[in-house]
Amino acid sequence: MKDNEIKNVAIYLRKSRDDGDEDILRKHRMALTDFAHKNRWKYELFEEDAISGEFLNKRPIVSQLLDRIENLEFDAILVKALDRLSRGDEAEYGELLRVLRNSDCSIVTPERVYNPSDLNESMVISINGIFAHRELNAIVNRLQEGKKYGAKEGKMTNGKPPYPYYYHKEIIDSDKGQKIIPTVRVDPEKHKIYEKIKELYIAQNMGTERIAFFLNQRGISSPNGKNWTTATVSRLLLHEFHMGVAIYGKTQWKENRAGKIRVVKLPREKWHIGRGDWPIIKTESEHNEILRITQQNLRVPSRAKQGAFPTSGIMFCQKCGYSMRYSLGKLEAKSGKVYNYTKCSHKNPMGKKCEQRGVKMDENFYNTLYNTISKCNTNKRKVLEIAQKSERLRRIEIEIEEVQRKIEDIDKQLKRIKAAYAAGVYTLEELKIEKKDIEVKKKSLLSAYQNLSEEREGMSMLSEKELSKRVENFKEKWANASSEEKNALLKSFIKKIVYNREGNKITLSIEYQ
Ligand SMILES: [Zn+2]
Repeated sequence: MKDNEIKNVAIYLRKSRDDGDEDILRKHRMALTDFAHKNRWKYELFEEDAISGEFLNKRPIVSQLLDRIENLEFDAILVKALDRLSRGDEAEYGELLRVLRNSDCSIVTPERVYNPSDLNESMVISINGIFAHRELNAIVNRLQEGKKYGAKEGKMTNGKPPYPYYYHKEIIDSDKGQKIIPTVRVDPEKHKIYEKIKELYIAQNMGTERIAFFLNQRGISSPNGKNWTTATVSRLLLHEFHMGVAIYGKTQWKENRAGKIRVVKLPREKWHIGRGDWPIIKTESEHNEILRITQQNLRVPSRAKQGAFPTSGIMFCQKCGYSMRYSLGKLEAKSGKVYNYTKCSHKNPMGKKCEQRGVKMDENFYNTLYNTISKCNTNKRKVLEIAQKSERLRRIEIEIEEVQRKIEDIDKQLKRIKAAYAAGVYTLEELKIEKKDIEVKKKSLLSAYQNLSEEREGMSMLSEKELSKRVENFKEKWANASSEEKNALLKSFIKKIVYNREGNKITLSIEYQ
């Protein structure tokens, strides 16, 4: 039943053991009838007056209601919360869902519609599949609904609040005993830092990277106590929490065909967004300004990322390990030629630049590269290493085949035992024992298979023959290839080129695939 197709509802009311307040039924009745009026639904009241049993069969009213639902008299049951409907075991809950599903009858609470006939949407069913019913009550009602209310009423409900906020637990004495009321507060010292970050970004036009350096240089500790990074600064700047926005329900549980539960992200329009009850320390106009600047600063992908330089993506700095950067050609006056440059532009958390010096990528540079690669086949050690690795690789292949065969055998064995049980040769008890034994064996085989595959993956390297074939190909095509083609040629057999410069001496070490 779609939300907008609901016309007739059954309002179900029940007093629960946990309800201390005598007035609770009256309050629920009022809330639910109001809700029905608001939606222009026709309703009928079903009310269990005494504190009723946990199971459906001890609750005459709910049984009556189910009969009438099966009779297709209602489009939905309206309840205050899911746990009003059933408190029995899983089997009973399953029965309830079956009736609702067969009659295309939804469950409606003031917060949302649960549609048992829609398997994908049905959080009720998916949660019921893995949790005991009692836990379902706890999760769906206390947590889910509670959190949703929380977001609407502006209570902070999810984990730790972002910098510079913190959780404060206030203990209040009342006549009913002590009560802990959590509130979100602002740490005054950290607040100053936060204000500084905003100011640097908005008014002083400082980028997130420079802000991180700025803070690290002054020894200011980051939200996680380590160094500030570009990502930390940018996350803080863009966070909506500081504007007082409370968000809940960014994800939802889904069940796939095999009954596996996974968590999916929901589109923004489905989130529950409300106003938080914590202090606002970023105005909407500040936020919009931050968004505008961020948008503006979005980098245009550099040519390096598109593989425009022969060594793009495979050349790394020996001094810091980070990837080398490239800059496009400058016309050299004396030679009249255009040369590209490479350099390391990595900076440490304090903003200090790597000491590696860059180089002009001229004929010399490429000759060094070409010669280093061309000589690889004459390198005895390299050849030996390849030979050893390929021997190990050959043995791994054999072992993998063997494990695969054993797994197939085990599967056959399992089938035979099941057939024996079906034919009455085995008792259920015997089947269970045999099956368990086989499953243990299978598990260990599968893990052996996984280990071997991982090892194979890690060694995945070119054979000596394949490597020299690719090197030959590289030698043949290099001279007349475009930048992109050169990049592809290098990537066809090279994992890494490690760049280093001492004085004017350039060393390139090659790691082959
Ligand atoms: Zn470096």
